[in-house]
Amino acid sequence: MAALLLHSTNGRSPAVNLREALLRGLAPDRGLYLPEKFPNLAPAEIAAFARLPYPEIARRVLSKFTEGVMDGNELAAICRDAYDFDVPLETVYNRVHVLRLDRGPTASFKDFAARLMARLMGRFLQADRRQLTVLTATSGDTGSAVAHAFHSVPGIRVLVLFPFAEVSPRQRKLMTTLGDNVRTVAVDGKFDDCQDMVKRAFADPALGTIPLSSANSINIGRLLPQSVYYFYAASRMAQSGEPTVFSVPSGNFGDMMGAVVARQMGLPVRKIIAPVNDNDAFPRFLASGHYEKIFPSRNSLSNAMNVGHPSNLARLVAVYGGWMDESGHIHRAPDLAAMRRDLFSSSVSDERTRATICDAWRKYRLLLEPHGAVAWRGFLDWQEHESPHGSPAVILETAHPAKFPEEIEKTLGLSPEVPPAISAAENLPEDYDRLDADYEKFKAYLLARHA
Ligand SMILES: *Cc1c(COP(=O)(O)O)cnc(C)c1O
Repeated sequence: MAALLLHSTNGRSPAVNLREALLRGLAPDRGLYLPEKFPNLAPAEIAAFARLPYPEIARRVLSKFTEGVMDGNELAAICRDAYDFDVPLETVYNRVHVLRLDRGPTASFKDFAARLMARLMGRFLQADRRQLTVLTATSGDTGSAVAHAFHSVPGIRVLVLFPFAEVSPRQRKLMTTLGDNVRTVAVDGKFDDCQDMVKRAFADPALGTIPLSSANSINIGRLLPQSVYYFYAASRMAQSGEPTVFSVPSGNFGDMMGAVVARQMGLPVRKIIAPVNDNDAFPRFLASGHYEKIFPSRNSLSNAMNVGHPSNLARLVAVYGGWMDESGHIHRAPDLAAMRRDLFSSSVSDERTRATICDAWRKYRLLLEPHGAVAWRGFLDWQEHESPHGSPAVILETAHPAKFPEEIEKTLGLSPEVPPAISAAENLPEDYDRLDADYEKFKAYLLARHA
């Protein structure tokens, strides 16, 4: 079986197989890797998922991408090892469900992708006897998920940059208490500064001797595993087989791209709702066809979505036939009519986020944290906009409410139970470095550590 090929959204780098795309992260022309053609799952293959556990669904979906670069048994073992936690689908009313993606070791959906990607990368590197430094910028959840996933993986060093003032102590402790091959750097700046420093490091020829890779959602390895839970959720509903509505709270748009990938592979999807917080570049683009990034990004309660220029939009635009470069410039317009048919997006302010946390609890005893509340409110916005009838719907809750105890206590007057994964990190000693938001200083730091 010939390996699947991935090309760059900027179209100026050679196509590579999944192994190469994963180890590189960003394509040499600074574009994002995307499969040249999406593999397909037949309706009968999708229908069979109803009887299968999560790791086996993951294997069947992901094997379509790993054929030719990884042995099937090896992939099966990786999936079993990565997905050893629950994935609850709660019915809220009638055909409306909440998918809780918060049962992994760092209590956010990012565990799903990070755990699989770390294992794939570890395997690929071992076969090659290569060493790699995974460099990642985080607004909170990516860093901890990536740090946990790569902790103790041989051949890999992890370096995480986070904005000191924008990350909660609980989020911080999940990444600064690991030690070993994981190093964390608190930056006196915003998430955008961290992301910018990481991007510049990747593009800097003076760092060419350091083998760097990315674990941000620019890496295709972060994206593909995120298609699996859409198949899983659809397979667990009584009305499985009907086109489903998914609402996905969006920041860098990697999670919602998982839904796009699932649809491209054959999952029946009625609508993908991608609500955002105050960083509303995408809903404006969908409405007007005109893209303008938000700079500087705006701080919101749903802090893992404080992204002014979502990196995965370049992939979304490519799926719809357009070309957006890494700066956000659109060289070729996508099919906007098709995008509006398939997608919906609205912006949910902090005020509406809080009101939604309150309403969901009062009406349904549904406990949501700020990111899940944005998803829930976006779903309601879509209903008000299109008054659809009765499609099955899945709203993604992407983090555990105990990650935002102050907000939940303030809004609902109750304190969410802390999962063991989080409480374990609470009393461990922290260790991290501090840096100004200054690229030259960061570069010197990197060079010193790799000397
Ligand atoms: C990262 C994150 C998001 C946003 O996901 P993207 O793939 O960046 O759109 C939403 N919720 C939580 C809890 C997150 O950690």
